[in-house]
Amino acid sequence: MEERLLNDPRPRTTLSFYKYHRIENAADFRDALFIAFEKIEVLGRIYVATEGINAQISLPTERLEAFEQLLATPPFDFLDGIRLNYAIDDDGKSFATLKVKHREKIVADGLPDGLINPADAATYLKAQEYNNLVESNPDVVVIDMRNAYEFEVGHFEGAQKIDVDTFREQLPVAVEQFQDAKEKPVVMYCTGGIRCEKASAYFKHHGFKEVYHLEGGIIEYTRQAKNLGIDVKFKGKNFVFDRRLGEKITDDVLANCHQCGEPFDHHVNCANQYCHTLFIQCLTCAEEMQGCCSNECKEFLHLPEEQQKELGHRFKPDGSKYLKRKKFRD
Ligand SMILES: [Zn+2]
Ligand SMILES: [Zn+2]
Repeated sequence: MEERLLNDPRPRTTLSFYKYHRIENAADFRDALFIAFEKIEVLGRIYVATEGINAQISLPTERLEAFEQLLATPPFDFLDGIRLNYAIDDDGKSFATLKVKHREKIVADGLPDGLINPADAATYLKAQEYNNLVESNPDVVVIDMRNAYEFEVGHFEGAQKIDVDTFREQLPVAVEQFQDAKEKPVVMYCTGGIRCEKASAYFKHHGFKEVYHLEGGIIEYTRQAKNLGIDVKFKGKNFVFDRRLGEKITDDVLANCHQCGEPFDHHVNCANQYCHTLFIQCLTCAEEMQGCCSNECKEFLHLPEEQQKELGHRFKPDGSKYLKRKKFRD
């Protein structure tokens, strides 16, 4: 499949969308979606749950019209006219396979059902409104609702990060961290908006009075700001959950190689497939370390395959800190 994708000369478009919408039979819906998407050559990762759908996909650009028609056809028509977030820095090689998964939730929030209702989400801000608000009011608290490794390579000027690796951990930590901001205007953002639908409802539920949510997240903000020719207040790279692992928004390099400390902002996964730790590694270190996160992994890489299989279980995720994470997902 991967090879076929690389050899296909047709340009592809990468885009994402989500919708919170009650899907009564999510398993059947998942099957129907898979068949329909396969027909129009969609690749990507899609989550379907009773609470809705979250999709990151790519497709041949010539299929876009067929795709939009599909979204207007039952049982998919609750997606008719939905905002599609087009990737900014798109090489069309974002995905190599089509995976449609039926899950309990489209965003794992770790909360009991019904505690927060995405329908209670905060007031949306467009790019111009966001700029106006942060420029005119020094009291505004800007919160990055993504994980620490996403913040590291790019974020809004003046934004505050929450030091966690998953959204599930984040909500209670965030409310605690921003206790003092309950009376202040709070603006939150994430990659495409899906996490803020829940986070902003959660903040309101916890007594925050004035909560705003950047509409369509970093992706839509950047598109609007560039179209309008206004100041782009997001600096660096937007981390994305596909093969690209990031799209450049501005030329600023905010992060450093985790091994030598040189300015660098490209994430890789450790070349030891049993480790697979996500980290930032510059090209010099990549060569020296053979793409590994540690000497331990580098040595492991040279063991015979049989021995690797036997010893692979040593590399268990410990989740203690981001550099030592074995897998990344939210
Ligand atoms: Zn380095
Ligand atoms: Zn490793």
